[in-house]
Amino acid sequence: MPEMPEVQGLVDYLGGRLVGRRITKARVSAISALKTYDPPIESLEGATVTAASRHGKFVDLATDTGTRLVFHLAKAGWLRWYDTLPATVIRPGKTPIALRIGFDDDSGFDLTEAGTKKSLAVYVVRDPAEVAGIARLGPDPLDPSFDRATLAGLLAGRRTQIKGVLRDQSIVAGIGNAYSDEILHAARMSPYALAANLDDEEVDRLYAALSATLTEAVSAASGKPPADLKDAKRRGMRVHGRRGEACPVCGDEVRSVFFADNSLEYCPTCQTGGKLLADRRLSRLLK
Ligand SMILES: [Zn+2]
Repeated sequence: MPEMPEVQGLVDYLGGRLVGRRITKARVSAISALKTYDPPIESLEGATVTAASRHGKFVDLATDTGTRLVFHLAKAGWLRWYDTLPATVIRPGKTPIALRIGFDDDSGFDLTEAGTKKSLAVYVVRDPAEVAGIARLGPDPLDPSFDRATLAGLLAGRRTQIKGVLRDQSIVAGIGNAYSDEILHAARMSPYALAANLDDEEVDRLYAALSATLTEAVSAASGKPPADLKDAKRRGMRVHGRRGEACPVCGDEVRSVFFADNSLEYCPTCQTGGKLLADRRLSRLLK
């Protein structure tokens, strides 16, 4: 699943290629992916792209007609870029392609979604705030105004686990399961620590880890073509997705906790004083 750094990489890539390009084709093949009906998607045809930007994990392409194409790739969605868009006809229901956008230099992209659980979302709007998921976003951690005091304010009084706080888009925008694992590892903090209980020194550490992890990941993603972004993300991970491997900081074995449809990874020595966190799946079976 792409998170803020990969989405920023996509936005940089698209911005560099699409600003000034006219949209010649806008077709939805997975109708369930299109969440808006007014303006219609065809109204994008003929419009010229003026900017590409990011809101949390949403991509926003603005045009000179005031109509914008906004999308969220969700868990299994991706963007496939073409210097020359294939002429093949997309048959709805027979392809992972959900949306195809073409431009006046014959370039274009498809939004694709693998798997059966469809959650890729496309919006055609006049204002990004019309998208509920954007309207409720918390502050962006890479915004220059997001300082230590901002983070301390977001944590204060929240008696919930820090892992969940970091992933909650309405509290902080753009962080998902992978980067929250990485940030907590860099901060040497248990994913189960309660946000409200962090002392000043822990908030310092968390703020430094959050800024450094995301800045590093954005710079690794920037300038990469979409096809390389997933590998770049995987390569940058120190604990996430690395169960059973050695922690690059201390050499202890990276452990997982499994949930219904995902898992988190952590290093016991770095993060929990050597304690193993209960595997939720296992403890449920033992009840
Ligand atoms: Zn470690």
